[in-house]
Amino acid sequence: MMAVEAPRKSFAAALGLLALLALLHNAVAKDPVCYDTAPKPRQAGVLNVHLVCHTHDDVGWLKNVDEYFVGSRQDIYKAGVGYIIDSVVQNLQENPDRTFVYVEMAFFSRWWDEASEKQREAARTLVKNKQLTFANGGWCMHDEAAAHFVGMIDQTTRGHRFLMENFGYVPKTGWQLDPFGHSATQAYLLGHDLGFDAMVLGRSDHVDLEKRKLEKGMEMLWSPSVTFGESKTILTQIRPDGNYQPPPCFCFDFEKCKCDPFQDDENLEDYNVEQRVEEFIEQAILYNNTVLGDDILFLMGSDFQWENAHVWYKNLDKLIHYVNKDPRVNVFYSTPEDYFQAKRNSNITFPRKTDDFFPYSDGWHSYWTGYFTSRPTSKHYAYIMTSLLQSARQFEYYQGRSLKDSDALLNLENAVGIVMHHDAITGTERQAVADDYAFRLHRGSVSAVSVINEGLKQVLSRSGEAPVGAIVPAGPEILTRPGSSAHAASSGADFVQCPLLNVSSCAFTEDSSKAGQNFQVAVYNNMAQTRTDHVHVPIGRTSSPPAVFDGELKPLVSQITDLDPSVRSDASQVQDLAFAVVVPPKGVAVYYVMYQNLPQNAVPAQMSKIRQVLANEPVAKISGGDLAMTFDGASGAMTSIENTKIGTSVNSSIGFVVYNSTVDNSDDGQSSGAYIFRPSGTLDVLNRGARGLNLTMVSGPVFSEMRQTFSSWLSLSTRVYEAKAWADLKWRAGPLPIGDGLGKEVSLRISSAVQSGKEFYTDSNGREMLKRKLNYRPTWNLEVSEPVAGNYYPLTAALSVSDESSEMAVVLDRACGGTSLKSGDLEFMVHRRILADDGRGVGEPLNETECGCTNCDCAGLRVAGTTSLVFGTAEESAQARRRAQAIKEAPLVAAFRPVDAMEAVKPLSGIQGKFPDNLSLMTFHALDSSTVLLRLAHMFQAGESAVGSKPATVDISTLFPGRKIEGVQEVSLSSNRVLNPDLGTTEVTVSAMQIRTFLVKHGGAQGAATAAY
Ligand SMILES: [Zn+2]
Repeated sequence: MMAVEAPRKSFAAALGLLALLALLHNAVAKDPVCYDTAPKPRQAGVLNVHLVCHTHDDVGWLKNVDEYFVGSRQDIYKAGVGYIIDSVVQNLQENPDRTFVYVEMAFFSRWWDEASEKQREAARTLVKNKQLTFANGGWCMHDEAAAHFVGMIDQTTRGHRFLMENFGYVPKTGWQLDPFGHSATQAYLLGHDLGFDAMVLGRSDHVDLEKRKLEKGMEMLWSPSVTFGESKTILTQIRPDGNYQPPPCFCFDFEKCKCDPFQDDENLEDYNVEQRVEEFIEQAILYNNTVLGDDILFLMGSDFQWENAHVWYKNLDKLIHYVNKDPRVNVFYSTPEDYFQAKRNSNITFPRKTDDFFPYSDGWHSYWTGYFTSRPTSKHYAYIMTSLLQSARQFEYYQGRSLKDSDALLNLENAVGIVMHHDAITGTERQAVADDYAFRLHRGSVSAVSVINEGLKQVLSRSGEAPVGAIVPAGPEILTRPGSSAHAASSGADFVQCPLLNVSSCAFTEDSSKAGQNFQVAVYNNMAQTRTDHVHVPIGRTSSPPAVFDGELKPLVSQITDLDPSVRSDASQVQDLAFAVVVPPKGVAVYYVMYQNLPQNAVPAQMSKIRQVLANEPVAKISGGDLAMTFDGASGAMTSIENTKIGTSVNSSIGFVVYNSTVDNSDDGQSSGAYIFRPSGTLDVLNRGARGLNLTMVSGPVFSEMRQTFSSWLSLSTRVYEAKAWADLKWRAGPLPIGDGLGKEVSLRISSAVQSGKEFYTDSNGREMLKRKLNYRPTWNLEVSEPVAGNYYPLTAALSVSDESSEMAVVLDRACGGTSLKSGDLEFMVHRRILADDGRGVGEPLNETECGCTNCDCAGLRVAGTTSLVFGTAEESAQARRRAQAIKEAPLVAAFRPVDAMEAVKPLSGIQGKFPDNLSLMTFHALDSSTVLLRLAHMFQAGESAVGSKPATVDISTLFPGRKIEGVQEVSLSSNRVLNPDLGTTEVTVSAMQIRTFLVKHGGAQGAATAAY
């Protein structure tokens, strides 16, 4: 079909119109405006407004990190971070006065990888000119409540090393704009110890915020460490808007804001220069009323803004040009560094702050204390993957691998890096994004596990006759027994690991046992101390029990136990084989589970005695290690906890509390959700039956336990081991029923007669224990509007109560929220299933299912955890609590392979010599074939333990058996600043709560460990 030509205006008519337009234009033509954006000299009495252009880019939230980067899934959210950086880099080049600060290196490094050489050169020049600067500079902007300090430091180091390697750049400002509350550890460790000069925080409690604004207290000297006090202080700003937005309405991201641009052509409609200048100055003066001094910081940008940097800069150029014509204000493009330098130069006496910023609330009924617990299985996965990464790094070193020649661990390092993000480990991301994080961690773990499995095979097949290489037979003080010989293991088979051992599931060991196949268990201990621990192996039900031997062929006592029916749906088919293991520091010990070719001295595994406790038994007792617990047969309840070593007993009970999640859909209402915990009382939904709890006692030579069944979806096994000072509370929660239409949030509560009054202690990111007080805030008067949620604090490691004679504590295997609502109580949340959204942006109820989907026909998520319970004198409890924490932070790695017969294998250790008990070898990371990034972390805070809190001294060369140390450099926490270029010794002392970081240069394998010094 032929196209129909559109009617055209006559050529002459068109010419006439053009002539008229030209005439009109000529009549008002003027010189092009040259906007003056150059910074002006400071003048007395003039308010200096620092414009800091920024974008806040979550590494996953409503969509996943890759979708955010490339800009896909615009139906979910319009954002493409790659384009933001493209646009900013391009537009910075157009005016040398323009500046920008970028934060999340997980995104910037992707952009860098894809950038053309021209773009890279431009970025290098912009960084050199201080137009493009970086704040924080970590892989992500980590969360401060649920993140563990090892993960926080790791992800920051990854980002800082990227900036150092590509730009020689060292970030100077902390930038925690969005995390939902701020931790003490963030201030003194991830602020001060990173070498940051200052830190900007977005959110603070709404009451605190209003008080600070009135008192001009938005900027402060923050020194919250119990141990370090003012010696580790950081200049800190809280944003007066309680967020990180531009002043209203000065957002020039046309996609995301509706603010008017600067219209400075008087011949056009809507000329608005005077009006906009006046509005800006008004905002500047308002802001200046909240801080001391004559400098203020305006953040120009917000979530995923600046995709069109041209629009932003064009308007800001005009803003600077016109506002500076007013003598009251001097406005200019600035950087966080320049802002805080101006503040320091201003001779201001800042107020001090010594507590932290938890819990955070942005309304009377809006406590952001739910996310401390949201997605408990994701939190656990992140916790154990952080640990797996450390173990895998040790094996990279043992094998002489390194990041430079192998990227086997990069996936896991990147995944753990982004999972520390404040919408990842927090559980406040959408379900699909949570699934994406889990997938990334899993993908990373597959490589890490194979690095460990290959490493195990390699080190176990080495000749153990002489200390060769980096892992050596454990010294005579550790485990060598007369008559044992060290030589190659009999099996050449590959090792397998079972990621679901925590729920008693392992295809290899179950199948092997059913087939009567002997297998070897290689156990790796990533702690720097010798460790007595326990291995639990699921085995199939067989007619004859196996016998267990250690690596030196000594028969061991072992125990077979029928599984609690709530552990697995096919629990009757599987049994638990348990035995104690002793594993040398950073070392490997081998065990055998034998079904065939048993030697004469074999000790068959003993079956546990399992029996129902009868209603007429007033006292049923389990004991092991230092603890004994009594239960009452009539009610099925725990009645006391005793430390048998010191003979102290305390009346105690233990049970679950089920909170009902508030649903309040009114305009200013507040529902419980992924972020916010708002209970509306507790629910009496636990079917206790006529005689109380079902109580089952299990006893055997390795461990004993009392199993309490609270309902079909809540159960608890309180377990004591012969060789452990503390008890393990093995809890299982879920699927939380929602058939009644009610959201549920479940906590485990231990009530005791410990006279703790209103005080309790919670850890800060796994470091210091901080004192909390019920219904109290140290720096403002708390009006108690949410008596439960407002008293929940973040826990990463531990919660404790104490009185003059004793301390009781729980040590956790994942982050969660917790409190002590009554004297002697320890309460921590284990699971949440919620049917409403809490209105903070995620727009999805926290309703997790076994299938990783929401609103689908699938059973609710089940969660299983192991929390350790410590009880004793303050001194004993502190030591046991820190020890339990160290063990939780470094779960044993168990790997299996089939063997026909046993051969003796001596335990191996990566440490030759004594490593102090109160020190953690936190990081051992081979950066290349001759450099190791080493961190030593003291485990105790000042005054915590008479023994534990003492300084610890270690000879670094003991960590490098068989290698010559060629130099030790002390560096800052993230390794980007040299503190001492040459220590001149390998002996270092670490004081209470201190973390010291070193770059250790070493030579190749030597015949014996020698130090150059
Ligand atoms: Zn964010």
